[in-house]
Amino acid sequence: MNSFIEQAQRRIRESAAVAPGEHAPTLPGLDKLSHARASLPDATKADYLSGRGPEDTLAHLLNDIVPGFNGENRSGRYWGFVTGSTLPIAEVADNIVSAYDQNVQVHLPNQTISTEVEDAALKMLLRLLNLGEPEQWEGRTFTTGATGSNILGLACGREAVITSRLASSSESVGEIGLLRACMKAGIDEIQVLTSMGHSSLSKAASVVGLGRASIKLLPFSEAEPWRLDIDAVERELQRKNVASIIAISAGEVNTGRFATTGVEDMQRLRHLADQYRAWIHVDGAFGVFARTLPLKDEFSSLHQANAGLELCDSMTIDGHKLLNVPYDTGIFFTRRASTLNDVFKNPNAAYLSSGNTSQIQSPLNIGLENSRRFRALPVYAVLMSEGRLGISRMMERMVITARAIARAIRSCGDDYVLLPDAGSRLDSFDDNTHIVVLFRAKDDALNKVLVQRINEGNEWYVSGSSWDGKPAVRVAVSSWRADSEDAFNTVKRSLMAISQAHRDSQS
Ligand SMILES: *Cc1c(COP(=O)(O)O)cnc(C)c1O
Repeated sequence: MNSFIEQAQRRIRESAAVAPGEHAPTLPGLDKLSHARASLPDATKADYLSGRGPEDTLAHLLNDIVPGFNGENRSGRYWGFVTGSTLPIAEVADNIVSAYDQNVQVHLPNQTISTEVEDAALKMLLRLLNLGEPEQWEGRTFTTGATGSNILGLACGREAVITSRLASSSESVGEIGLLRACMKAGIDEIQVLTSMGHSSLSKAASVVGLGRASIKLLPFSEAEPWRLDIDAVERELQRKNVASIIAISAGEVNTGRFATTGVEDMQRLRHLADQYRAWIHVDGAFGVFARTLPLKDEFSSLHQANAGLELCDSMTIDGHKLLNVPYDTGIFFTRRASTLNDVFKNPNAAYLSSGNTSQIQSPLNIGLENSRRFRALPVYAVLMSEGRLGISRMMERMVITARAIARAIRSCGDDYVLLPDAGSRLDSFDDNTHIVVLFRAKDDALNKVLVQRINEGNEWYVSGSSWDGKPAVRVAVSSWRADSEDAFNTVKRSLMAISQAHRDSQS
């Protein structure tokens, strides 16, 4: 069996390898997808679930299934969604995770080092992102991603804003439930105040019993809808019998822009939250990695937008996006471990207790899962391998590449327009661009099919979005393979060809 795995790993790497300077296709092609689909088991056939054995199955996976995958990890120009890719050291670490299959559930210091490695990775991340000392972030854990972390954030926020209004400090929502706790606390409504919060925030609100309708958008203005109107927040916080969670989009997913504009905004929000017993959750899935950028003029707007975010009560960070570790990896930080414990405690299972008195919490008491993957190891490996400087350079490469793409779009003459409304503020546009670029074609007919035209070219891949009620194209650079020169040339050549072909078809 050993030689089977060794041989298989060699074949996997041969199949997934990308030669230096080359780009894997962004999409697999419909023929490959049809082939993969036709190879899936057919319940009407006699050999269904007949057990093919490992050799045959490996051949099936590599020859039939793998060609049906997209180029998320291998292309370097897969700029759809915000996907990230996987650094080689992260892939290696992920293979170690599978090879040793540690169950990171209970902190067992005399039996496995895994929980301590997780904690070391979390502490390194806090320091990498300049969020403060680990003692200020006692509640910390790995999740499945930013959605998971947003669920934790709203669950902790819910716990805190309700229990702070309960007469008895021994009661918690986790213990007596949302309905009873709200009645006892005299709360009629819990609202989540945000500006262009990520869609997963609505999902999280539903999961933790607040409801999707609890999300209230408080945009600063029509021109800057991603920015939070703090005056409006203050008015909302004053409503009687209403408890609030303030959810800050630190990196809005369409524009990459930030809900707060600097440390003063965050200080004011902190003050308001303390006064009105509200909770501040920062969704920094990809945006907070701008904190690792070098202190250069060209990044000063991004540093400023990030300033003060550490004043929050809880924070979401994605691992599988900009940090370039495999799915599923997210990170969650909050001030007190006891808040997480109030929500996620897995009580009365003596066989699950570790009997330890160290600072390290058993993951099963501070997160959604009991048994789970050792998802910290790839993060640990990336931080060990790259260090502050390596991460900073990787993030810089992504930002420079996004800005090169914006320049390429601008250089195509009058056919395309950068959003949001770059026309009036071209100078600041570049400085505010993090890793997301939004644009559209000026010609409505072309704009409608633009995403399709780009993606069918199979050189670069983008997501369709909408802005001001019209279709828009979203480019998100989040791979360690980011290459600004190649990106500029590819985008310019491709967009010029697309608009030329469109003109030709019109005449
Ligand atoms: C991607 C993203 C999410 C959701 O993250 P998943 O890792 O896909 O669960 C949440 N918030 C923001 C700001 C994001 O960019």
